[in-house]
Amino acid sequence: MVVLGIESTAHTASVGIVGEDAEILSVAGHMYRPPRGGIHPREAANHHVEVLPDLVRQALERAHLRSGEIEAVAFSQGPGLGPCLRAGATVARMLALAWNRPLVPVNHCVAHVEIARALSGLEDPMLLYASGGNTQVIAYARGRYRVLGETLDIGIGNFLDKLWIELGGSFPGGPEIEKEANRGSELHPLPYSVHGMDVAFSGILTATLALRAKGIERPDLAYSVEVTAYAMLTEITERALAHRHRDEVVLGGGVACNERLRTMVRTMTEGRGGTMFAPPCSLCVDNGAMIAWTGLLAHRAGVSIPVEASAVQPRQRTDLVETPWRAR
Ligand code: AMP
Ligand code: MG
Repeated sequence: MVVLGIESTAHTASVGIVGEDAEILSVAGHMYRPPRGGIHPREAANHHVEVLPDLVRQALERAHLRSGEIEAVAFSQGPGLGPCLRAGATVARMLALAWNRPLVPVNHCVAHVEIARALSGLEDPMLLYASGGNTQVIAYARGRYRVLGETLDIGIGNFLDKLWIELGGSFPGGPEIEKEANRGSELHPLPYSVHGMDVAFSGILTATLALRAKGIERPDLAYSVEVTAYAMLTEITERALAHRHRDEVVLGGGVACNERLRTMVRTMTEGRGGTMFAPPCSLCVDNGAMIAWTGLLAHRAGVSIPVEASAVQPRQRTDLVETPWRAR
């Protein structure tokens, strides 16, 4: 089976084509970069409408496939920004109708788990999902993917992006903070906000800006922010592992591109005698391939929806989504 998947939950519009055994036949994506400040949902959606038709063409070309060879069309149904989701869903519906193929809804967070699970070969890993808008620890239990812990305020990526802009940089901040942090060495104390299996970042933001106002240089600030925030994520992941008696962790989300985070989670997991896997950065960030792959799993298990019932779900909860391909 060959499935085409469309991702459009936030900044990234992406089309992926995937075959059996998670063979990635092609990915074509384009990211919306706001001229300044944070993301404006309407403008990002306009960007997605503009680029998606060409991304579909590119994905088919790169996979050396004709449209008739696509067996199902999958799309991100939620969670995400309403206008952005609708842009991707509209293109997916159009393709499903034009090609006379089933339309398959996919939960974006579940897709991050499934692509990492397929690439790692791990049977039942826990996901640390660290992206722009989301920060969650997710595990499969009793027939569903469940959120065990999450951010109580903003997503870790949005936190890094906002901080970097406040420090005079530009979007996206995460990779720039990583470069800057590699030049820093002095750890300044910042609020360490772990509440059970949840985390919060706004206190670190305020405290970092206060340190900047006192004249602390950016490399040491970036270093302190990374060490503190990633230690928090590592701690909630470890707590979730201990509670659920698990020993496998996979990473997902754009912040999972970060080498310090990868190293910290790997050290923790291996220290417990477990295994950690991080997909290549191109598959940690939002991408159409993970939507296509999860769509393939779902479609193989009999999932599809009529176009009339395919409304997007900006607040779709991961633990309400059926995952019949994993049902036991
Ligand atoms: P996503 O929301 O999954 O598409 O990921 C985008 C987020 O990942 C943005 O907030 C980026 O700042 C962040 N990001 C990307 N690369 C890195 C990195 N190397 N270190 C930290 N954050 C990163
Ligand atoms: Mg994502």
